[in-house]
Amino acid sequence: MEFSKLKLRSQIAPAGFAIQRPDGGFVIRREQKHELLKLVAGALLVHLLFVPLAHAAPPDQEPTTVYVVQLDDTLSAIASRYDSTVQALVQANGIKDPNLIHPGQRLVIPSASPPQEPATQAQVHVVHRGETLYRIAQLYGTTVQALVAANNLADPNLIHRGQKLIIPSAMASPAEPLPAPFVAVELTPSPIVQGQTLVVKVKAEGIVGLSGLYDKDRPVVFVEGEQQTLGERWALVGIHALTEVGAHPLKLTATDAEGQQTEVLLSVPVVDGGYGVENIVLPPDRSALLDPDLIKAEWERLAQVFGVFGRQQLWAGPFIVPAEGPITSQFGTRRSYNGGPARSYHEGIDYDVPPGAAVLAANDGQVALAEPLTVRGNAVIIDHGLGIHSGYYHLSEINVQEGQQVKQGNVVGKVGDTGLATGPHLHWEIRVRGINVDPAQWTWQTIP
Ligand SMILES: [Zn+2]
Repeated sequence: MEFSKLKLRSQIAPAGFAIQRPDGGFVIRREQKHELLKLVAGALLVHLLFVPLAHAAPPDQEPTTVYVVQLDDTLSAIASRYDSTVQALVQANGIKDPNLIHPGQRLVIPSASPPQEPATQAQVHVVHRGETLYRIAQLYGTTVQALVAANNLADPNLIHRGQKLIIPSAMASPAEPLPAPFVAVELTPSPIVQGQTLVVKVKAEGIVGLSGLYDKDRPVVFVEGEQQTLGERWALVGIHALTEVGAHPLKLTATDAEGQQTEVLLSVPVVDGGYGVENIVLPPDRSALLDPDLIKAEWERLAQVFGVFGRQQLWAGPFIVPAEGPITSQFGTRRSYNGGPARSYHEGIDYDVPPGAAVLAANDGQVALAEPLTVRGNAVIIDHGLGIHSGYYHLSEINVQEGQQVKQGNVVGKVGDTGLATGPHLHWEIRVRGINVDPAQWTWQTIP
C-alpha cells in the first residue's frame, strides 16, 4: 500500500533521540553472577525510561542516543560527531565490519562514561497493560508483599496501566542464577528496537525439549544449532513495530529425559524505533481500495501463505536488497490516511526503481505465492523456511511460479505500479511467522 507520491506533508522524527543507556549485552550464564547483574541492570534501566529526566539522566551525564545512518555516512564521521570512537560504536552495535554500515540502520551511540549503577536510588516502575504485581516483583527480584508495603496498596490485584510504583533500592537485588539444565541464554540484539528480529540462543544440558512463550501468547519455536554448536538451540521472534516500549516477558521451558520441566522467565527490553509519522492524502478513486472488506479478503489469502513454511532453513548469510534505488519510505513509518489517526505503519521498505527493472530474490527459498492481488498488485512471496518469508509487491511482471525453488539473486519479477500504488516502485518486506520486521536488519546482519 504505497502512496508516497501523494504525500503532502510528512513529520519525520529527528535522527537522534534519547533512549536508555546500553547495558553492554544481554548474556547470562549459570553461576556467573556478574553477568546476571548486567541482566538485572538492563531490566532496571528500561524502566528508567519512564522516570522523570532528573532520575533517568543526572545533569552531568548525557543520555544515550540512537542515530539513523544517512546516505554517505561513515562510522568514523558518526563517531566524531558524537564525540565517540569507532571501536565504541562497533562494540555497542555488534558490527562485524566497520566499513559496512547502511542507510536506515539504527546505531546505539554509547556515552563516554560507563553505565550508571541503578541500585543507589529508588526506582519507579510504570505499570504496562496486562502486568500483574507478581510479574513486576519477579522483574525486580522482589516480592508482592514488599511492593504492597512500599506503595501502600490496598488490593494487590488492583493495579492499573500507567500507575507509578516505587521499587526501593534495597529490593533491586540480583535475580536467581539460571537453573539447571539451562547453561546460557543469549538475546540479540538487546535492547531491541521496535520492528527488529530477536535471536534467542539457548544452551542446555541433556534436555529433550525446549519451548518458549513471548508476551504470554506468542510461541517461540526452537531449532537445533549446527554441528559445531551441538547443544545450542535458537529461535527467532519478530518484535512488532507497534509493540509497547518496555520490558516484555519471555518464558523458556526445558524438558529433560525424565519429563521434568524447568522454566526461566526473562525480560526482553524493547526500545522506541523513533519511526516518523507520515500523513497520506488519498484521491477519492484510490480511497475505495482502503475498503476494509477488500483488505480483509486479501489478508486472509496472505495469512494462508504465511501460515505454511518449510521446516528447513533455506536462507544463508545476509539478504540482498532486491532492487537498486533510493528509499522513498522506510519500514515502520507510522501512517495516517486523510488526516485520521496514525493506526497503521509501513510494513516494508519502498525503493524508487524505474519500471521494468529486475527484482531479485533476496535469499534462497521456495516461491510460496506468485499471483495478482488487489491491494498489493502483482506479488511474489518467497518462503525461506522456519517461518521467514520475503514479499515483493506492485510488480509489472511475475517471472516465477508457485512452488519454484529460487536462489539469491534470481529474477522473480519486474518493477511496476500494480495494485494500490501511485507510481512505479518496489515494496519489499520480510516477515517472521507473519510479523513484519525491518528488512534492513536482515541485510547487514547474518541471522541467526
Ligand atoms: Zn511500501
